[in-house]
Amino acid sequence: MIRSSILGKLLLTALVLILVALGSADFFLTRYTADREVRHAEQLMDGQVRILAPALAAVPLASVRDWTSRAASQSRARVTIIDRDGVVLADSEHDPATMENHGQRPEVLQALAGQTGAAVRRSATLDVDLCYLAIPAALAEKPGVILRLAVPLQQIKVSIAEVRWLIVRASLIAGLCALLIAYFISRAFTNRIRRIQSFAGELVNADYSGTIATQAEDELGSVARSLRGMADQFREMLRRLSDEASRRKAILASMVEGVLAVDAELRVTFCNDSFAHAVNARQPLPEGIPLLQIVREPALLDLLKRVLATGEPRRQRMSILAAQARVFDVQAAPLEDRRRGAIAILHDVTELERLERVRKDFIANISHELRTPLASVRGYTETLLDGALEDRENNRKFLEVIYSNAIRLGDMASDLLALSEMEAEREPPPAESLSVREVVRAAIRTVEAEARTRNVEIIPLEVEDLHILGQRFRLEHALLNLLHNAIRFNRPGGEVRVEARSSDSRARIIVTDTGIGIPFEDLPRIFERFYCVDKARSRETGGTGLGLAIVKHVTEKMGGTVTVESRLGKGSTFTLEFPAEGPSPGQPDQRD
Ligand code: ADP
Repeated sequence: MIRSSILGKLLLTALVLILVALGSADFFLTRYTADREVRHAEQLMDGQVRILAPALAAVPLASVRDWTSRAASQSRARVTIIDRDGVVLADSEHDPATMENHGQRPEVLQALAGQTGAAVRRSATLDVDLCYLAIPAALAEKPGVILRLAVPLQQIKVSIAEVRWLIVRASLIAGLCALLIAYFISRAFTNRIRRIQSFAGELVNADYSGTIATQAEDELGSVARSLRGMADQFREMLRRLSDEASRRKAILASMVEGVLAVDAELRVTFCNDSFAHAVNARQPLPEGIPLLQIVREPALLDLLKRVLATGEPRRQRMSILAAQARVFDVQAAPLEDRRRGAIAILHDVTELERLERVRKDFIANISHELRTPLASVRGYTETLLDGALEDRENNRKFLEVIYSNAIRLGDMASDLLALSEMEAEREPPPAESLSVREVVRAAIRTVEAEARTRNVEIIPLEVEDLHILGQRFRLEHALLNLLHNAIRFNRPGGEVRVEARSSDSRARIIVTDTGIGIPFEDLPRIFERFYCVDKARSRETGGTGLGLAIVKHVTEKMGGTVTVESRLGKGSTFTLEFPAEGPSPGQPDQRD
């Protein structure tokens, strides 16, 4: 624990340094003390030996032992007299007879060479450390002897012990101070490191809001500054990434096209709301959900598989069952690294397809519708030219057929013209305030004769005096078409009821007949151009197949809507609904 923390390591290092310092202090100081003691002993003995040597020169051999004992007690040292051949002549502490030859002792050898010999050694005789000093001397009748003094070195041990004790005391104080200083320095140091560590930890956890002191000029200050700079860069990068992500999210969310991203295993990694909405999936989709669980559309799955396998973008038009069989133009492309998946953009072309179909149908229909009356006109004209002109019985009949077909072609041309005019105009003609009652009355008057011929009664029910904004000729055209149909597709003795009323600030014109009705499945298509439920009946009764298309266009141009309800064999109700201008003031409701 201690060794794993920086504080512990620093303290341990300080401790080791202190011990090394103390060890070396002990080593050098004890050696110094010992040397000093030895030198001191040598100096002392040198002084004494120089006093004793002249005295010895007067001592005869016979009394040398006594002299030695006296000299020893005087000088408080062991005194030994050695002959030149190393034989001990006298010793203050031992019987010379028991002592070995001293001729090879280093101090004796030096003295024999005429110098002052000194040595420190353990005395084999006394078994203590002794400091020896020997000089050449002489006895009264024997000139060449060695005078040796020796003092035990017990004092050295005492001095060393004293020095050691001093060192220990000094070391304790110094160690304590050093440890305290090391502790405070390293604590301040580790606190800073901890702050840097926690700041770096926050960066790892993507929290870039933390703060750190960066003013220190040392290495830690520079580490802190680097980290601070890194955090600032990360924060800026994160901000840019999140801006970019929200921009992308907004773009994808506002796209009408469905966007789908899958991984290499066809698991959905992303889809936008348009896609989820189209395939009826609830957002947000579970992470990594297999595409198959959302869209069981083999064509889409195959397309993505092929894109992933080849790495080539592909485009295909397909109907997707999960999206109510709507038709999509799907553009699929691999990601940069195709092993990471692919992306598909689904463009809903159902409406486009419908329009294309309507356009094709329109062209086919118009050619078809023109061909029949034209063929008839041409056929009868040829017959007349081929001689039938002289045929008094039939020529009038033929001419009537030609005439009715020409009328039909004319009607068709004017209906088409009316439609294309409405489609082409950018600005509708100026709107006027129309009295619905007047327009209804005029329309009824126009069709009255036809109604009588077909034995159909027109009953104006409640016709309020409503006012709407629009163009009179157009509203009348639309109403005439509705009334024509109501008469033409009626049964003999049937009725056509016309109402005009308002509610919720909407004006409604309702035309109800008791005719043949319209099959339910045909209802959504009857407003298309040239659409007839029963072609033969429509043509026979002078229809062009454009009447309801004009009704729809007119109402929508005037800001209204047209709806139909019908029961087969019972009759149909067409309702035109416009924003009402309100009834004219002072004109009460009245039945017409
Ligand atoms: P057409 O010239 O054929 O009448 P329209 O556009 O006016 O053309 O009408 C389209 C088709 O809608 C008609 O052919 C007819 O089959 C059906 N239809 C329209 N009005 C009625 C109605 N009042 N009763 C029954 N069928 C109708």
